[in-house]
Amino acid sequence: MPAYQRLTRQSIDLWPEFMAELYDHSGSVNVNYDRKGGLVLCLGEKAFEERRALNAQLAEQLRNSDNLDQDLATEMLDRRQLQSLMPNLRLGSEIVGASYCSSDGHANPLYLLAALHAAVRRLGGELLSEHRVETIRRNDGSFVVETEQRHFRASRVVIAAGISSGKLAKQVGLEAPIRPQRGQILVTERVQPLLPLPCSGLRQTTEGTIMIGATHEDVGEDSSTTTEASISLAAKAVRIAPDLAQLRLVRHWSGLRIMSPDGFPIYTESEEFPGAFVVTCHSGVTLAAVHAHVIAASIVRGTFSSDTGPFSHRRFHVNAAA
Ligand SMILES: Cc1cc2nc3c(=O)[nH]c(=O)nc-3n(C[C@H](O)[C@H](O)[C@H](O)COP(=O)(O)OP(=O)(O)OC[C@H]3O[C@@H](n4cnc5c(N)ncnc54)[C@H](O)[C@@H]3O)c2cc1C
Repeated sequence: MPAYQRLTRQSIDLWPEFMAELYDHSGSVNVNYDRKGGLVLCLGEKAFEERRALNAQLAEQLRNSDNLDQDLATEMLDRRQLQSLMPNLRLGSEIVGASYCSSDGHANPLYLLAALHAAVRRLGGELLSEHRVETIRRNDGSFVVETEQRHFRASRVVIAAGISSGKLAKQVGLEAPIRPQRGQILVTERVQPLLPLPCSGLRQTTEGTIMIGATHEDVGEDSSTTTEASISLAAKAVRIAPDLAQLRLVRHWSGLRIMSPDGFPIYTESEEFPGAFVVTCHSGVTLAAVHAHVIAASIVRGTFSSDTGPFSHRRFHVNAAA
């Protein structure tokens, strides 16, 4: 979906400004954002050639849709080039090379969430936990949002409730066909810097822990962790970098990604109840800058539909009819 490539790249461009703004508004929370590029490591020749073909396909799609020669900032590195980028990491024998994208970056999602919470509060917003929204209805030209404790009245409502967004959307006449996809991650003890760049399935935080994963599992709303996943994640990590076998694991967690049928975000406004919006995606960290600067702004300005056309839920109706 070329529109998704453009959206992601737009968010990447906005991230430095977003981070600076967030730092000011949150009272100096540093989200450890770093943009030195990122790698997709390739185990074996087949994976290397498949990655090369995928990069070429993405570049072609963008060129065709924009009719311009875009620089995707992506290149294939052989094993020697890869090793020179990561001198402290002994690569496994099956690693053939990697795809490198200079626009890629990394932020700490826990600090990002903390910074967003702090910024909302400092800008006069209110965060209410333990207030589960049960009902959204129209009354006298505005929306009434009902929780067990309180009712809220507003002229506009944005449903961004993760995996629960689908159920709430139905109440304002919207079909947002989302499903959960489980991702499990292993976290190691803190070690000296080994990974200067974030890699597919392997990233080191500023504090020194290494995150291994994640899985992609269709198991419904089950966010438990499993021994099978820890075995397969650890085994793959050791094929990539054998010395990781020496590290102790300190955490194993899982979360649910919010997936639409085609995997792309849903940004949509209800036709039946104008003023009710759904905003949902599975890459909320990457897209945080574009959500704050573009999506939120167009909801406020009233230009939402024209700005987010390709991401409307209506694309699924067309597919269903076809
Ligand atoms: C393993 C894993 C790896 C990931 N890796 C990346 C990555 O590398 N890059 C990236 O960009 N993204 C990544 N993500 C995705 C990113 O974490 C999500 O996109 C982001 O958390 C989704 O944010 P959200 O606010 O839409 O939903 P959520 O984080 O699910 O938040 C929804 C909120 O709504 C609340 N809520 C739900 N129902 C109701 C209700 N009825 N009333 C009131 N409140 C309600 C919930 O309590 C929750 O606080 C990853 C996710 C996982 C699981």
